[in-house]
Amino acid sequence: VKQTGGNAWAVFDPQMAVDERAQAALVAALRSAVARRQLELFYQPKIDARTLRVTAAEALLRWHHPERGIVSPAVFIPLAERHGLIGEIGNWVIGEACRQAGVWRQQGLRMRVAINLSPFQMRQDDLVDRLQEALAANQLQPARFTVEITETLALENTQATQRTFERLREAGLHVAIDDFGAGQTSLAYLKSLPASELKMDMGLVRDLATSEDARKIADAVIRLSHALDKRVVAEGVETTEQRDLLVAMGCDELQGYLFARPMSAAALGLWAMDDGAN
Ligand code: C2E
Ligand code: CA
Ligand code: CA
Ligand code: CA
Repeated sequence: VKQTGGNAWAVFDPQMAVDERAQAALVAALRSAVARRQLELFYQPKIDARTLRVTAAEALLRWHHPERGIVSPAVFIPLAERHGLIGEIGNWVIGEACRQAGVWRQQGLRMRVAINLSPFQMRQDDLVDRLQEALAANQLQPARFTVEITETLALENTQATQRTFERLREAGLHVAIDDFGAGQTSLAYLKSLPASELKMDMGLVRDLATSEDARKIADAVIRLSHALDKRVVAEGVETTEQRDLLVAMGCDELQGYLFARPMSAAALGLWAMDDGAN
């Protein structure tokens, strides 16, 4: 372990020199990915637990790298954050998701569209203006749009993020707390968060069938959320057993490979029409 500036600690890894070279190449390629139209939004449906209809489509970013094929956002989003590229990418996501939402609205599909926001975006003071402009340009009502923010970030009590939260609420957008139950959940904070939706982390969902503790926690999360007037979406639902447990506990919406994997906008549009979202 070596100390970097301030009081941050980094683990020294002999692999790091090699990884750094590979990363530098990836960063260089990512820099031009937006301009070269290598980014695409896939969409994964959220399903109403009772009616099984599509309630929303979550946009999940894909990078079509010319040599590597599809690179996971779990890899390139953190890189983009570190190298100052997330602003441009995040703006592209906002514009593209709103454009697609406008297309679906014209096709008569009634589902919401959700996007993921990164920490950098939450600290941008023009974030909400940008969202409002993109919504207006596509004649979309803010209430038809959801922004997903991770639990860790939502609990970050800085002035900049709190201000963005307030402005999102004032603008009438829906806010979802992502990966809920994965971090150090502070139930006391939950009450004060201006979110209308909680996304139960897939780690908790995964353990439902095998762990009594997981079931107790999930049950408590759902009861508490309902007491605070928030809907609960379970993510990463892969088995009918998990689905049945969640439905029995009163979970509102389900998302996961059991229903659909993330897919192209065209495929999701067809899928949603089939499932009666219109
Ligand atoms: P997330 O927002 O928690 O998204 C859920 C992830 O789980 C997605 O991975 C999704 O494809 C995957 N998933 C969905 N259902 C299942 C399932 O049943 N089983 C399993 N094992 N996985 C499932 P993906 O698409 O690779 O995205 C990873 C993360 O990257 C996202 O996690 C999100 O934090 C971030 N991300 C994706 N798109 C964007 C974006 O446009 N902007 C930002 N800032 N972050 C993004
Ligand atoms: Ca998400
Ligand atoms: Ca999540
Ligand atoms: Ca279908």
